[in-house]
Amino acid sequence: MSGKLIFERSSPGRRGFTLPPLGVTRKKLPDLIPGSFLRKHEPELPEVAENEVIRHFVALSRLNYHVDKGFYPLGSCTMKYNPKVNEMVARLDGFAGIHPFQDEEDVQGALELMYYLSEYLCKISGMKAVSLQPAAGAQGELAGLMLIRAYHEEQGNPRKKVLLPDSAHGTNPASVAISGYKVVPVRSNDKGLIDLADLKNLLDDDVAALMVTNPNTLGIFESEIKQVKKMLDDVGALLYMDGANLNALLGIVRPGDIGFDVLHINLHKTFSTPHGGGGPGGGPIAVSDRLEDYLPVPRIDKTDSGFYFDYNRPKSIGKVTTFFGNFAVLVRAFTYIRMHGDEGLRKISRNAVLNANYLLKKLEPYYELAYPSTPMHEIVLSADKQKKQGVKAIDIAKRLLDLGFHAPTIYFPLIVHEAIMIEPTDTESKETLDEFVQAMIQIAQEAEKDPEGVKQAPVSTPVGRLDEAGAARNLKVRWSHSNE
Ligand SMILES: *Cc1c(COP(=O)(O)O)cnc(C)c1O
Repeated sequence: MSGKLIFERSSPGRRGFTLPPLGVTRKKLPDLIPGSFLRKHEPELPEVAENEVIRHFVALSRLNYHVDKGFYPLGSCTMKYNPKVNEMVARLDGFAGIHPFQDEEDVQGALELMYYLSEYLCKISGMKAVSLQPAAGAQGELAGLMLIRAYHEEQGNPRKKVLLPDSAHGTNPASVAISGYKVVPVRSNDKGLIDLADLKNLLDDDVAALMVTNPNTLGIFESEIKQVKKMLDDVGALLYMDGANLNALLGIVRPGDIGFDVLHINLHKTFSTPHGGGGPGGGPIAVSDRLEDYLPVPRIDKTDSGFYFDYNRPKSIGKVTTFFGNFAVLVRAFTYIRMHGDEGLRKISRNAVLNANYLLKKLEPYYELAYPSTPMHEIVLSADKQKKQGVKAIDIAKRLLDLGFHAPTIYFPLIVHEAIMIEPTDTESKETLDEFVQAMIQIAQEAEKDPEGVKQAPVSTPVGRLDEAGAARNLKVRWSHSNE
């Protein structure tokens, strides 16, 4: 791979294909489009042959790492394998070829799919109603908080604060701030659970809600959640669940039964639609009885004559995204749910939890476990032991790249020193898990014998260590001649 950009491969006049001369007279563009709208210069597109294009992008795809290539234990992200049948269904003409401006009667199948997907999500979550609109988990959070505000406003006081455990995902405080509430952190106790004494001190009439991730970001189920719910009820506050990762709960625990008022669900994690790199997602929100009236419009409903968009919801917070959500993502999630059925979904969660606990048992002799409780679908280790040798979590993550694996999430949750957060997901075989365990053990041994070597990693990737902050802050996404 020469590392050239496609623009740098350009050669004037080179074409991807040639056709015989046109046998008909073509209308001149100025006759069709007013001259002032026509460009004065040819666009500076790369001029390359077809094989150069193909080779360029195949080479790029080889540089990439993805779930189709190998194990991707990125904690909190649920990088499970996405079955290809999801893609086949999403590409069916009747789904891929429709347009959101079409009349309802022309797209009954699409409405039916969205209607039943909402029903399935209600059933899975035990909640009363669902909106499929939010395009990502973070947007689901914001929409959920808007519902909470609408509810409190109708009670006469929007309130001021939202409580968040100190282990919360970064999107939680961001959403709270954007929704106009004040972020108030709640301490975790030595078991990695919400500290009830701290919670009690923080609760008052100005608390709009508590946002909880369950299992939390340490991978531990909040076993005292019913007690938490009661404490919130006592001050009239609502309970929000960050359900980005339902991978541990399917068919086992229904958040609605616990008494959650809002739950966002990441279709692009639990329900196996591809994600990463900012691509399309799906962050439906599921709500309890008391929040249903505020859900975004349009809702999808049905009569004897078919399905329709219902805009007549006077208390609705309105629309939160263009059209009706990322439809192709909804099709993939629908396919996945139908393919597995009740029992299949339960097995997914059982396997996700089993896989995480298997890794824990195998790795415990080599790495510190951050909190002693039995985890659910992911585990959080600490590299504190290795750090004594000078090898940090980031060095271990980089060394894993050399050994053929994607790195786990590191330095999150923030309450764990040198955190290494591993989520194997349900889709990996025991053989794959064993190979990963071998790699992690090898690194632990290298950290003792040759810490300097580990700190040089990665040595086998196309580029070594990057200036990660610089890469994010000084983006260069546009090519121009002056880059040459
Ligand atoms: C991924 C994730 C989110 C955010 O979801 P996006 O779709 O990336 O916006 C929120 N909370 C938790 C716990 C997550 O894992």
